Amino acid sequence: MDNIADFIVVGAGPVGLLTALGLARANASVIVLDADAQLNDSPRAMTYTDPTLVLMNRLGILDAAEKVAIRNREINFVWPQDDLVVTIDTLKAEPTRTYAHNLHFGQEALGQIAMDAFLTYPMTEVRFSTKVRAISHGTAHATVTVETPNGVRELRAKWVIGCDGGQSTIRKLLGLEFEGFTWPERFVATNVRYDFTGKGWKNVHMICSGPSWGLVAKINAEGLYRVTFPEDPDIPVEEVGRRIHDHYKRIMPDDEAYEIVSWAPYRVHERTCPTYNMGRVVLAGDAAHICNPCGGRGLTGGIMDVDRLVTAFENVLSGANERDELDAYTKDRRTEFVEVSSPFASMMKQMWERSDRDAQKRDQAEIMKLSVGSSSISLAGIKRRDAVA
Ligand SMILES: Cc1cc2nc3c(=O)[nH]c(=O)nc-3n(C[C@H](O)[C@H](O)[C@H](O)COP(=O)(O)OP(=O)(O)OC[C@H]3O[C@@H](n4cnc5c(N)ncnc54)[C@H](O)[C@@H]3O)c2cc1C
Repeated sequence: MDNIADFIVVGAGPVGLLTALGLARANASVIVLDADAQLNDSPRAMTYTDPTLVLMNRLGILDAAEKVAIRNREINFVWPQDDLVVTIDTLKAEPTRTYAHNLHFGQEALGQIAMDAFLTYPMTEVRFSTKVRAISHGTAHATVTVETPNGVRELRAKWVIGCDGGQSTIRKLLGLEFEGFTWPERFVATNVRYDFTGKGWKNVHMICSGPSWGLVAKINAEGLYRVTFPEDPDIPVEEVGRRIHDHYKRIMPDDEAYEIVSWAPYRVHERTCPTYNMGRVVLAGDAAHICNPCGGRGLTGGIMDVDRLVTAFENVLSGANERDELDAYTKDRRTEFVEVSSPFASMMKQMWERSDRDAQKRDQAEIMKLSVGSSSISLAGIKRRDAVA
């Protein structure tokens, strides 16, 4: 049995590493475990909204994030059938924000920034290729059984925090249901090089056009963009790869060449578990709740967990009652997910994919209330391609 730490964080995703950083800053000893051999660098979340910037500032990593990010304030909602492009300003949409802008950069960069900062603190460690297989917990500590390249061993800590993603082993080992539903379609996230903003598009472009909806968003200053669109879940993955170009034909403003750098298909869900804490084990991020990414609430919700959970444990480390603190964490974060994040994400997804013309007109009227003008983008490309699709 290895020596006892204050915390074992299971999962070196962004939520696990930010949680670990917050706890290390509170002078705790923290070990992060991840089943993979290195940080995951597949194309995933890339928009950081106000609460996530507030947390990055609190954890001392906002400057590092600004160095790799672009700032964005304007978002285009596009209805190609009506030749309508409505530009909204994030501050006008959310006047109580701390930061007027969002940041855009790849989730893998956030993981690296958080890990680099975490490892500058004493009593911190990240162990890759270390997969949790079992967990037990009593009144004073929890023990995880891990599989490593050097064999199976046990590690002990006062608390274990499961940040091990949507398929969470920790959640399953606790016997918690993951209640909710899975959306019928698959999403395809692609990273592409093509100068959309050079063609007059904004940094975020939400194309609300029924089944051929799509998101186009600039990821970084080097001209990498995220293009996300829905796909039939029954099509084999190889076929999805081939069909990416069909979607691009529908959304590109012209026939100029583009380069697909990476892509990943994934299923989207609205699910959460009945509690986020049990005994000496706590859940955060996708392990506790998952929603579709259309409202930018996927990773944002996980980062809001980090903020709330670090506060709860700071209080515990200062002598507050741990049951009260962790129950309050569950109550606050689960209520926010069920009543705000998941409904908002579903509402946004439905708006993008709606075909009903009357409903589209109602959406347009709502979005117009937040409008700061119309852009100079030509919709000719999208409309022409829609007509031939
Ligand atoms: C293709 C794709 C695109 C996405 N796009 C967006 C988007 O545009 N916007 C958005 O907000 N969200 C998006 N998401 C969701 C977003 O990526 C997640 O919300 C985010 O990754 C959650 O972070 P996390 O740290 O909770 O979990 P994860 O990032 O999933 O990290 C979990 C970690 O736990 C490790 N792990 C798992 N099991 C074990 C175990 N038994 N032992 C040890 N380690 C373990 C894994 O190796 C992994 O590193 C996307 C997701 C995918 C898959």
